[in-house]
Amino acid sequence: MKITDLKCAVIGQHPVVRIVTDEGISGYGQAEFPKPYLKPHVLFYKPYVVGEDPTDVERVMLRIRRAGAFKPWGAAVSAIEMALWDIAGKAANLPVYKLLGGKVRDRVRVYNGGVRFDMADYSPQGYAENMAKMKAAPEGFSIIKQGIGFHSAMPTVVPDFTYAETRATSLYPNRGLLTERGLKHVIACVQAMKDVLGDEVGLALDCGPGWTVPDAIRFARAVEGLNLTWLEDLITGDYTPYVLAELYSEVTHSTTTPIHTGEQIYLRQNFKALFDKQAVRVVGPDPADVGGIAELKWVAEYADLHGILMAPHGIGDGLIGLAALVQVCATLPHNYIAFEYPTTRPEWWYDIVDWLPDPIVKNSMIDVWDRPGLGVGFNVTAARRRLSDDDLGFFD
Ligand SMILES: [Mg+2]
Repeated sequence: MKITDLKCAVIGQHPVVRIVTDEGISGYGQAEFPKPYLKPHVLFYKPYVVGEDPTDVERVMLRIRRAGAFKPWGAAVSAIEMALWDIAGKAANLPVYKLLGGKVRDRVRVYNGGVRFDMADYSPQGYAENMAKMKAAPEGFSIIKQGIGFHSAMPTVVPDFTYAETRATSLYPNRGLLTERGLKHVIACVQAMKDVLGDEVGLALDCGPGWTVPDAIRFARAVEGLNLTWLEDLITGDYTPYVLAELYSEVTHSTTTPIHTGEQIYLRQNFKALFDKQAVRVVGPDPADVGGIAELKWVAEYADLHGILMAPHGIGDGLIGLAALVQVCATLPHNYIAFEYPTTRPEWWYDIVDWLPDPIVKNSMIDVWDRPGLGVGFNVTAARRRLSDDDLGFFD
């Protein structure tokens, strides 16, 4: 089998990859929805993969893997990798999990990072009311993640939150020492959310990036009695092109609260310092940013050797990304906790992808499906209607 074409369409806001072969099998991959600008980046790799055998996934990846970087510049390589596995599975008439070594579990646990309700405000009561709605969501999530601190509007809407200058822009640019009031405000909001959840639902917090080491330690210690599932991205994180494992190590070894990072990290090599230094208790690579499905599995196995847990990121990965997460998470060792359930926008995405279960999530779990490849596919008739004029030939 040979790759004859690599295509990319922006469907909704998601860059979607289609790899075409000379045997009539196509494979699909998908990058996060806020990244429509990646289309030319995906197409950059086309001359490196055309003519190769897509079922030799690793051999193809060796041609392009080095030409990627931390989020968002690992997404194109990652989506191509997903599409290669989709083809390899279809060609073998097996689900991708079989090609990765087989299932460890029949159902995969997900956590809520994306089923959201508008916040009334960023007070403890606002957080509590919002958490009550998420607790009541039909997916029955057993872990809910909420944004606080620098991973929220707190720096700009809570008066005197930090001593640093703040900016109300996206990509989490704020960083600095918290005031005592700022720190107390965060702790009060966490306590209010915990009061709603009790011990029925785990509470994870997306915190940054942007905390200083002393604040991170003070905060992690202050919430120790609450048995939080994890504190994510205190130091570095989303859209940070470096890791700073030494700083994470200092925080982790100063508290019993589990510390988590990794969603923006590209490739296994960039997790090495975190593992060698036991710098975090949980890592959260995203298959659509880390370099793909097999890369994520490798990171999980290496984490397990080091006693580090695994909670893959995935909020923006869309429905093809959801399929990739289900396939790979079925195969991960017992350090697997849950993956972040992707929510998809616009809503019509659910009408253009076939073979998803309905409902997708039951009691915080997804049944692992057995169709070949990633096991989902486009309803081409419906999907064609969502193509922009630039992408009309995507399914041809
Ligand atoms: Mg995060």
